[in-house]
Amino acid sequence: MRTKVAIIGAGPAGLLLGQLLHKFGIDNVILERQSPDYVLGRIRAGLLEEGTVALLDEVGAATRAHAEGLLHEGIELAFSGRRHRIDMKAATGKTVMIYGQTEVTLDLMNARKAAGLTSIYEAADVEPHDFDGGHPRVTWVKDGVTHEIDCDFIAGCDGFHGISRASVKPPAIETFERVYPFGWLGILSETPPVSHELIYSNHARGFALCTMRSMHRSRYYVQCSLDDHIDQWPDDRFWDELKRRLDQKAVDQLVTGPSIEKSIAPLRSFVAEPMRFGRMFLAGDAAHIVPPTGAKGLNLAASDAHYLSVALREYYDEKSSAGIDAYSDKALKRVWKAVRFSWWMTSMLHKFPDTGTIGARIQLAELDYVTSSKAAMTSLAENYVGLPF
Ligand SMILES: Cc1cc2nc3c(=O)[nH]c(=O)nc-3n(C[C@H](O)[C@H](O)[C@H](O)COP(=O)(O)OP(=O)(O)OC[C@H]3O[C@@H](n4cnc5c(N)ncnc54)[C@H](O)[C@@H]3O)c2cc1C
Repeated sequence: MRTKVAIIGAGPAGLLLGQLLHKFGIDNVILERQSPDYVLGRIRAGLLEEGTVALLDEVGAATRAHAEGLLHEGIELAFSGRRHRIDMKAATGKTVMIYGQTEVTLDLMNARKAAGLTSIYEAADVEPHDFDGGHPRVTWVKDGVTHEIDCDFIAGCDGFHGISRASVKPPAIETFERVYPFGWLGILSETPPVSHELIYSNHARGFALCTMRSMHRSRYYVQCSLDDHIDQWPDDRFWDELKRRLDQKAVDQLVTGPSIEKSIAPLRSFVAEPMRFGRMFLAGDAAHIVPPTGAKGLNLAASDAHYLSVALREYYDEKSSAGIDAYSDKALKRVWKAVRFSWWMTSMLHKFPDTGTIGARIQLAELDYVTSSKAAMTSLAENYVGLPF
């Protein structure tokens, strides 16, 4: 087999990159370890920046998002028993869209199918080879048989635990990491959201977030210990804990119900540099992870796919390597700003075991500042709606 770009991973980064390349006439093949149903069953992000929606529009995969997505013009920050609204639309002229990652993935999968592009699911032992030389290739095993594809480039879009980044050895790669001393316990329930916008709550018992996937489906999170296990969190305990961390009005309006998904996610900031190794590029979670507090993970996967697709178009159409040479620096500039913002939101809103009462008071002072200074509100809003590509 031969293709121009072999893409490893069929998450948002790989699928979007595949569609953008197709639009530019660059053929590509996707190799994915899991089955389509498994990929679609993963409940993850749910908030899209305008730039991400524009990219979905560009590849003709945004029709359902426009019909079913919820546009939000603000968020609320809750602390000291009160809620304060940040009007992002007024501050930046922009909105964000609530539309689940599962739906984005399904829409991109359908667009790929409609375009007749090759995706190989349940590909085991995928391995990138010879990306330092001029003839990269990827091997995998399917139904007990080893296959190989020759390509011009490999795009490692295989998430944090993928093989692409792991195939590069130091000193060619440098990593930066912070693991936070807590996790997020999240549940999904078929209940109407407690409020029409997201509520981020700083509370003495720990952080809580009220978000949603639609007007009938809610997603709630509470900060938990890294030692916690979901078996220790029956639904009743979760709802009780969430209520303790919300203001009275939210408690009165909260509709509870059985969870249809429950999981604990660790929080991490991670960046690998560079994002290019010869003829292999990294994009999305394969290269970087942010704590979900800033809602940036999926959106960064989209901006990486954009930068990489434009660079590869330049390579094929204009016979110029300038774009692919600049890809890593360009993508990392945006990545680091999102890493900073996600770290800052996480630091301001969570209970940290090691900062004591002075840390908690400083957080409240910061929240008071952010919700009372126009300049601070604008800064938060500008980052939250997404910095320009
Ligand atoms: C539990 C969880 C909750 C999250 N919640 C949020 C949130 O609320 N808000 C937010 O903004 N972000 C959130 N994120 C982050 C967001 O989901 C990711 O940033 C986004 O999925 C990145 O897309 P990606 O395509 O780069 O990686 P992924 O979605 O991880 O896709 C990578 C794909 O590569 C495949 N793969 C892996 N290894 C191999 C291999 N060896 N061979 C072939 N294929 C392979 C995987 O099966 C997967 O399909 C969450 C992430 C997790 C894990």
